[in-house]
Amino acid sequence: MRRSIATVSLSGTLQEKLLAVAAAKFDGVELFENDLLFFDGTARDVRQMAEQLGLKIMLFQPFRDFEAMPEPMFRRNLDRAERKFDLMAELDAPLMLVCSNVSPAAMDEDSLAAAQLHELAERAAARGLRIGYEALAWGAHVRTYQQVWNIVKQADHSHLGVILDSFHTLALGGDPAGIREIPGDKIFFLQMADAPKLAMDVLSWSRHFRCFPGQGDLDVANFAAHAIAAGYRGPLSLEIFNDDFRAAAPALTARDGMRSLLFLEEQIRHWQDTSPIAATSPAIISVRAKADLLDPPPVPDIKTIAFLEFAVDQSAGNELAQWLIGLGFERVGKHRLKDVTLYRQGNFAVALNAELESFAHSYFLLHGVSVCAVGLRVTDPDAMLARAELFGCKRFEERVGPDEMPMPGIRSPDGSLIYVVDERFNVAADFSREPEGLADPVAQIACSIDHVGQALPGDHFDTWLLYYRAVFGLRPEESWVLPDPYGLVKSRALINSSRTVRFPLSFSESSRTVVARSLTTFSGAGVNQVAFATNDIFQAVVDMRKRGMTLLPIPENYYHDLSARLALDDDFIQKLQSHDVLFDRDAQGGEFLHVYTQSFHDRFFFEVVQRSGGYNQYGAVNAPVRMAAQARTATVPQV
Ligand code: MG
Repeated sequence: MRRSIATVSLSGTLQEKLLAVAAAKFDGVELFENDLLFFDGTARDVRQMAEQLGLKIMLFQPFRDFEAMPEPMFRRNLDRAERKFDLMAELDAPLMLVCSNVSPAAMDEDSLAAAQLHELAERAAARGLRIGYEALAWGAHVRTYQQVWNIVKQADHSHLGVILDSFHTLALGGDPAGIREIPGDKIFFLQMADAPKLAMDVLSWSRHFRCFPGQGDLDVANFAAHAIAAGYRGPLSLEIFNDDFRAAAPALTARDGMRSLLFLEEQIRHWQDTSPIAATSPAIISVRAKADLLDPPPVPDIKTIAFLEFAVDQSAGNELAQWLIGLGFERVGKHRLKDVTLYRQGNFAVALNAELESFAHSYFLLHGVSVCAVGLRVTDPDAMLARAELFGCKRFEERVGPDEMPMPGIRSPDGSLIYVVDERFNVAADFSREPEGLADPVAQIACSIDHVGQALPGDHFDTWLLYYRAVFGLRPEESWVLPDPYGLVKSRALINSSRTVRFPLSFSESSRTVVARSLTTFSGAGVNQVAFATNDIFQAVVDMRKRGMTLLPIPENYYHDLSARLALDDDFIQKLQSHDVLFDRDAQGGEFLHVYTQSFHDRFFFEVVQRSGGYNQYGAVNAPVRMAAQARTATVPQV
């Protein structure tokens, strides 16, 4: 199906918007009238610019407060419409969006609305144009697509049809199954927007908090699927009003928009009708309609995080190596061709990359010591890469030396990498083992990587959410708001179905929180937390301390509160306290014990965790204690 985006969804001048939309490979745009008003040129210039970029202006919007008006106002509205038709002819825009009337002068009379829309459609038809009528959720009298369809049916004009907007229906809790009663050829256009669930008035919610499908909580795929099942074959279009989008670079927003549409198409393709009436007459997406929708390779099974790669220089590398030894890693050895050292324990590894001619080095120059790549073990790396490329990700391959196995990766939104490897991949293949006697035999403390947390600028959050969801099929968990001593930190994790890969994302509006400080130090997004899973956290603490690791000291008051809150026995509280271990228990009795290291150069910290009884969270209740302790021990002074 053709893909479109409303110009109102992007920031910048009209020219910048169209360039971004074309670069993201959309077929066309809905032109927002204000974009034309602010454009320094004629409508014909706009048409020419769009044509040169291979874009079609599919719709002109919005035309407001038209229908069900008293007579003199109706005549004036027709004159106003004629002037817009002139513009549309110059733009070569075939369809005008008329949104339901919000004027206090509008009358609550469907037959009048139908008659006036008929006359408008008659005039449009005379000029080869069409009219699409859309319900605004806050319209004076017409608020639902069912009302719109009733009026369009009554008006009975070939040049008048329905425009559906997922937000206006789903925000009011409307049931999209009724869309199937509208003949497909009477649905003239399909606008799609998602939104996070918020308790606020629907107008402000729509004007400021819409987001791309897949970034919010509404079931947009179900909405669009009903329209396609009804026979709609027009463009799939994104219409997003969002304050962050209007401040972000249009090229990035357009790229996210395309990724969102492709992900939506995949969901529509595999859609199953679960509406209440499906039991008697299930809606079906025809084979022909399916052929028009993207069919990417399914996400392969993602097994584990196999390795992390840190970009380091010599001195940071030496210091971090000491930390890794302290955390129970065994030094495997040096890469046979490159300045990379490998450390390993359990089923995972950490590489410290100080090679000058490498991706890691350029990453280091930009971000300092940081995680520059994450290695995922998947069942089918080729399928994963093919899928990522279809979803607009750039593929990356480091130069390889003689007999070295190439390791393809995917560029994440911040420029870091995700490598994908299969079950047979041997991380130590190109590393020479340390000569006997030099390697330090150590007791391992961890068996796997539990989670890798990232600190993000607030306006990048939706981009990452969509990236992990669409490309890797990870599922977003519930959001948390955590109090840091210097502001609030919001957090939401994305995980795979077997819960072996977890990426909690955190962002902060305040510039002084631990998350924000880590962002400043990173110049952008970055991994700020790596948690290792252990089976015996108390033994782990003993082993780490024996090897000189300094753990984050937890204040005594925390343990007093814990004992009061959870009725734990005194010996256990004492044991937790003497090991600086934090504790959480979920409603089902699952338990979480965790301990933190200090922060490494104010950039990232490590955590060792022990989960039991199906505990599936991250100890959010303890995060304020951790952030306060980090603020106290920060090496960068607090301002
Ligand atoms: Mg709309």
